[in-house]
Amino acid sequence: MIDKSIYTILKHLSAHSYAVQLELFLLLFFTGWFTENLVSRGTGKRKWVHAFFNLKFFIVDAVPQALMGLFFIQIIHWNQVHHFGLIYTLPSGSSPALLFIVAFLVLDLGEYVYHVTMHKVNFLWGFHAIHHSDRKVDVSTVFREHPMESIIRNCFALWWVFLSGATFWIFFIHLMAQTFFVLFTHARIRLPKRFNKMAGLIFVTPNIHQVHHHYKQPYTDRNYGDILCIWDRLFGTFGILPYKEIKLELII
Ligand SMILES: [Zn+2]
Ligand SMILES: [Zn+2]
Repeated sequence: MIDKSIYTILKHLSAHSYAVQLELFLLLFFTGWFTENLVSRGTGKRKWVHAFFNLKFFIVDAVPQALMGLFFIQIIHWNQVHHFGLIYTLPSGSSPALLFIVAFLVLDLGEYVYHVTMHKVNFLWGFHAIHHSDRKVDVSTVFREHPMESIIRNCFALWWVFLSGATFWIFFIHLMAQTFFVLFTHARIRLPKRFNKMAGLIFVTPNIHQVHHHYKQPYTDRNYGDILCIWDRLFGTFGILPYKEIKLELII
């Protein structure tokens, strides 16, 4: 029998999760924005104009983003009712930590596959190129996404939530981690060399994602990872450039 109370709670949390994600997003955006302003000089007015231009994408994207969000709870609920998804194939009695790790890895691998696909399929690259067309990459570049890409990205994510069998909390924690990383890795900051090297063994750092925004190939086709860079290391798409050689400002 379908557990209506669980469904109601999940539905409520789902609606709330969008607000939490938005609050976290704005908090991290302004943290990144002020940090960038502290560490770089002479960017004042142009930086604001640039951010306001990118903000238009964020406002338009909010609509498909909010609408697509409603589908996630339906899929998670269906999976739980039918015990469908990778985590349900694990031995019964498996620890919650194992279930979390397996589902989290599947969701993160899904983001990697999505990003590679957006680069490799010509038709899709047309949408993703909007993100890469930013001539001055900074934390506001996160806003810069074609509305069609928002829909495609969410369709991919729905598919991976479906396959993984992720519970609401696994999905929610992954979403929050993704929100943090996407803003952190676009921030125009430079981490201490040693910390960047250590963290970059597993996680995507700003320096690693900046390589992805370097103005020419093969670097645009490197570092597709979202949270973890282990997929790039595993599938041979990892690339690194010294900070001074990364060019994030295009003069066209
Ligand atoms: Zn890309
Ligand atoms: Zn990017």
